[in-house]
Amino acid sequence: MTSLSKDSSILIIGGGTWGCSSALHLARRGYKNVTVLEAHPIPSPISAGNDVNKIMEEGEPSENDTEEQYVWNRMHQITTKYWKEDHVFKSFYHPTGIIFSAISDDVYEHVKGYTKGTESEWVSLDSPEDFKKTMPEGVLQGEFPGWRGFWKDHGAGWVFARGAMMSAYEEASKLGVKFVTGDSAGKVTSLLYSESKDTVLGAKTADGVSHHADQTILCAGANGDLLFDFEQQLRPTAWTLAHIPLSVEEAAIFKDLPVLYNPERGFFVEPDVEKRELKFCDEHPGYINMVKNATPGYSEGTTHSQPFARHQIPVESETRMRKFLQEAMPQIADRDFSFARICWDADTVDRQFLIDRPEGRNGLVVAAGGSGMGFMMMPVVGQLIVDRMEGVMEEKLQKGLRWRPEQAVGRDWQASKCLFRRSDD
Ligand code: FAD
Repeated sequence: MTSLSKDSSILIIGGGTWGCSSALHLARRGYKNVTVLEAHPIPSPISAGNDVNKIMEEGEPSENDTEEQYVWNRMHQITTKYWKEDHVFKSFYHPTGIIFSAISDDVYEHVKGYTKGTESEWVSLDSPEDFKKTMPEGVLQGEFPGWRGFWKDHGAGWVFARGAMMSAYEEASKLGVKFVTGDSAGKVTSLLYSESKDTVLGAKTADGVSHHADQTILCAGANGDLLFDFEQQLRPTAWTLAHIPLSVEEAAIFKDLPVLYNPERGFFVEPDVEKRELKFCDEHPGYINMVKNATPGYSEGTTHSQPFARHQIPVESETRMRKFLQEAMPQIADRDFSFARICWDADTVDRQFLIDRPEGRNGLVVAAGGSGMGFMMMPVVGQLIVDRMEGVMEEKLQKGLRWRPEQAVGRDWQASKCLFRRSDD
């Protein structure tokens, strides 16, 4: 490996959630020659983080943690500190609390398991009235048929996602990071390799320019395996979200709300103040888009899931969203959506992130596999990417976040996922 110094040239591919965070951490550690290549103006319309809000949960490791739990809890601990104390992030975190709820017995047991060890912090919700009391009068007007759950008013909430991503981007720019954006100068078409292929030398963009770098960090989210062979560790998966406009009167009471989350229905977070729109998601296992084209990770004829951008959602997803609203907030359940979008992230097999230097590829760090949970970890992920690049990542984290293609051997692409049926197919 080329020796690393603060003058080394570092290229980040993707200026989305994790790319902006990496740029910030690199600049803060004193790296003077950092360039980000991003295929769109920032915030990218296809970045999973370009969104009004994302759920954030605090946490910390305990001595009873399994190895897997430790990795999550340690990341929660570090990220919480950033969201609470760092000037770049702290104004975007709203710790308004969270409700975990369920309808069927097995999902209820799962949700209950989530409160294990912290039972005293949670209020049990066993009736529609219990649910209604968690928010100002008039917000939850539904009958909550069969719903049960748990609520806590601290230790979790939401973050203003686009704001936090832009804040990291602006601070990184201020500290000297160069951002090259757009579908010509910023869009990476391939990685550059040494003749023996054992070293990544940078990346080539759509305008034909070769960007040489001592270290390349690949943070292209769900599009990562269009550029590099992840050996099937990434499954691009789309989830759906929509917005509903609120009146001035409604917006006045829809304030400081805990997140309402039900894995059998969906979730919503309090409305965006400026636009007065309530965002909610259909909590569906996700969609995949199977295609047979060749990419660095897949030869012609093998199928894999490939992202595509669309400000639309499947009809069946809208139906599920409206059922969720009917049960919780029937007063807005039939209202037209003002916005809807599919949003892509990449699932790893065990849904843990992948932040490592793949073997046999000097000069490259990959950071992918947000698995639907990568936004709350944005501040810590940038730190971990730089730690991994420098070879100073905590051992247990390095093990948990390692390159692990053995998990993806014979991967069942369609396990618990729905296929898109697109009108243009
Ligand atoms: P992205 O933010 O998508 O960034 C990838 C970037 O790469 C983009 O800006 C893209 O334009 C760029 N790019 C792609 N290809 C190229 C190329 N060839 N050249 C140059 N640039 C390229 N997480 C939470 O913690 N809490 C939540 O509540 C939550 N809710 C979610 C809801 C939905 C509907 C979805 C989809 C995700 C949710 N997540 C949540 C997950 C979280 O948003 C993601 O894990 C995280 O944003 C992933 O960050 P990323 O940097 O890997 O990808």
